[in-house]
Amino acid sequence: MIKYTLICDADHEFEVWFSKSSDFDDQAPKGLIACPYCGSTQVEKGIMAPNVSTSRKKEAAAIQRQKAMTMMNKAAEKIRKEIAENCDYVGKTFASEARAIHYGEKPERAIYGEATPKEAADLHDEGVGIAPLPNILSPKGKSKAN
Ligand SMILES: [Zn+2]
Repeated sequence: MIKYTLICDADHEFEVWFSKSSDFDDQAPKGLIACPYCGSTQVEKGIMAPNVSTSRKKEAAAIQRQKAMTMMNKAAEKIRKEIAENCDYVGKTFASEARAIHYGEKPERAIYGEATPKEAADLHDEGVGIAPLPNILSPKGKSKAN
């Protein structure tokens, strides 16, 4: 059995099963195939939709995701490196260090480290300029502050 998508002269699309591929060519010129919507026997083979199976589609999507992840990881790695090279890791003392720098008790420098959500909120309220660092962008800190 073979399925064809057919189209009539009034642009109706419909599907017809044939026992073999030559059936259409035999039957259509004799007016044996009629459009189920308008009865027209002027029918042609429609454009076949590309027959991509669901698993193939899933596979392609997985490959796309993998590519995106690789790109993201590469970009993140670059940023991580940049932060590690240009900023001082202060670990859990981040809040007090950030505060000390903000109030001029310590020289201005770029730091990164860990802060609890409460500490982060307090710093924000005090006007200390901090920005959350997504995990993926956090360098593995050298624990020189601990
Ligand atoms: Zn029709």
